[in-house]
Amino acid sequence: MARRTRRPRGVTVKTPEQLEAMRLAGLVVGRTLERLVTAVAPGVTTGELDRIAEESIRSAGAVPSFLGYHGFPASICTSIGAEVVHGIPSYGRELAEGELLSIDCGAILRGWHGDAAVTVPVGRCAPELLALSAVARDALRAGLAAAQPGGRLSDIGDAVHNVVRPHGYGLVEDYTGHGIGTSMHEPPCVPNVAPEGPGRGMALEVGIVLAIEPMVTLGSARVHELEDGWTVVTDDGRQAAHWEHTVAVTARGPWVLTALDGGAALLGDAPRVPAGRTGTTPALDRGASAT
Ligand code: MG
Ligand code: MG
Repeated sequence: MARRTRRPRGVTVKTPEQLEAMRLAGLVVGRTLERLVTAVAPGVTTGELDRIAEESIRSAGAVPSFLGYHGFPASICTSIGAEVVHGIPSYGRELAEGELLSIDCGAILRGWHGDAAVTVPVGRCAPELLALSAVARDALRAGLAAAQPGGRLSDIGDAVHNVVRPHGYGLVEDYTGHGIGTSMHEPPCVPNVAPEGPGRGMALEVGIVLAIEPMVTLGSARVHELEDGWTVVTDDGRQAAHWEHTVAVTARGPWVLTALDGGAALLGDAPRVPAGRTGTTPALDRGASAT
């Protein structure tokens, strides 16, 4: 017998018009991150990066969603080395050659949220750190490619875990991705693992929007929060990488709302929304079969 799929309480399905609005918010985040990546260099402070981010977001007519979120004091999170997520920018913290920096950015445009993160080497980085970041990015790519209509939520965690597992890295489980829309964090949680395998959990309907964000560590996946009430660090002090995108499930496949090209470069040959539609709605017609 067919299993009835019931959407968990609080999960919202966006209309094509709403996805269009979320795309515009996603582009603000994508463009801001692009600016920040070019600004990263030894000697630059994370406070300066935060200033650039806020200016970029506000000049686009948007609002930094992190600023004031449960009291968070900045527009981006900057997490360096053993910091996994939620690091607080500071004019007292200069980036140093060889460090690995994660920048997490969120913006609200006309009520709709975008959320994405990148990991960037500061100057020349050890190959071991570049490899860690590359695997975390590959894991994100796999998770995004699994956001297919007709799939299930655990397809995403399974895809992420399958990329990370062969490398023996830690994959943080205490923090997850999330639904996103008119709030930054909506149901469901989007874990980066799938203990019961793929094909489980909520159905990935057309119009579901998720933030997928693998956090990968060189050593143990165990983490704790510092006394500042925000910064999450690895227990063993080894480095971490964090990548994130906001993605919409469409009839054509995943539409990466925070990627400037909609996900074309990241997803390659995977079924996805066609490239070249920056800022415009691709075929979002409900019920159409994937092509
Ligand atoms: Mg984020
Ligand atoms: Mg997020």
